[in-house]
Amino acid sequence: MKRSQPSPASCNGCGAEQPSLLLHNVRYRAHHRRFCTNCVLKNHQGLFCPICFDVYDDSPPPHLRLMCLKCPSIAHRSCVVAATTTTNSNAPSSSPVSFQCPPCTDPKFSYFKVNSNEPSLNKPTNGGENGGPVAIPAQNAPNSRAIDIESAKVLVAAARIAAASMCKAAAAARIDAERRAKEAALARKKAREALEHVAYIVAKERDAKGASTDQRAFLAKMPASM
Ligand SMILES: [Zn+2]
Ligand SMILES: [Zn+2]
Ligand SMILES: [Zn+2]
Repeated sequence: MKRSQPSPASCNGCGAEQPSLLLHNVRYRAHHRRFCTNCVLKNHQGLFCPICFDVYDDSPPPHLRLMCLKCPSIAHRSCVVAATTTTNSNAPSSSPVSFQCPPCTDPKFSYFKVNSNEPSLNKPTNGGENGGPVAIPAQNAPNSRAIDIESAKVLVAAARIAAASMCKAAAAARIDAERRAKEAALARKKAREALEHVAYIVAKERDAKGASTDQRAFLAKMPASM
C-alpha cells in the first residue's frame, strides 16, 4: 500500500520544506499526515489557546473562554484581555465580548517561523510595535529571547496536539482491530453453520431419494410378484 507522498521533509499540509525533526505525525481526517507546527495548529483550532499556547485537556468553562468569531478557535478570556490591553493601551480593560484568533485576523499569520536561522536584525522588535524603543537590534534586544520562548511554546503545543492525536488514532485502531476480529469470528461461525446446514440438506435429500427409490423398487416388484 504505497501512497505517493511528498518527500518526508515536506509538510503534507502546506508543502513547506522543513527539517523532518520539526514535522509532527498526526492522524487528520482519517489519514496519517506529517504536518509542520503551523499546520498542526491551524488544523486543530479549539484544542489550544492561540495566545498563550496552552493545550486544553478540557475546553475551559464558558465564562473563562472566548470563541473566535470566524473559526472554532477558543482562547482564554484572560489571555484575550491581556493581549488587548497590551496592544491597545486605550482599550478598556473590561471583559471583551468578541474575539478573532490571530490567523483569522491575518490570513498570512504563521504560528511558527522556522526560517529564523538568520539573525533577525532588520525585523522590528515587539517593543517597537508597542511604541517602545526601536533602536535596539533584535539580536541584542532583551525580548529576542522571548521570541525563542514563544516559538518553543508553539512547538510544544503542536507536539502535544500531535501526540494526543496519535494516541487517539492508536486507541481507535485497537478498537477497530477488536471489532474486525469479532466480525471475523462471527463470519467464521456463520460459514460453519451454513456448511452444516448444506450438509444436513444433502443428507436429507439423499435419504429422501433413497427412500423413494426403495419405494419405487418395491412397487415395481409388487405387480410382478402378484
Ligand atoms: Zn505545513
Ligand atoms: Zn491562554
Ligand atoms: Zn479564528
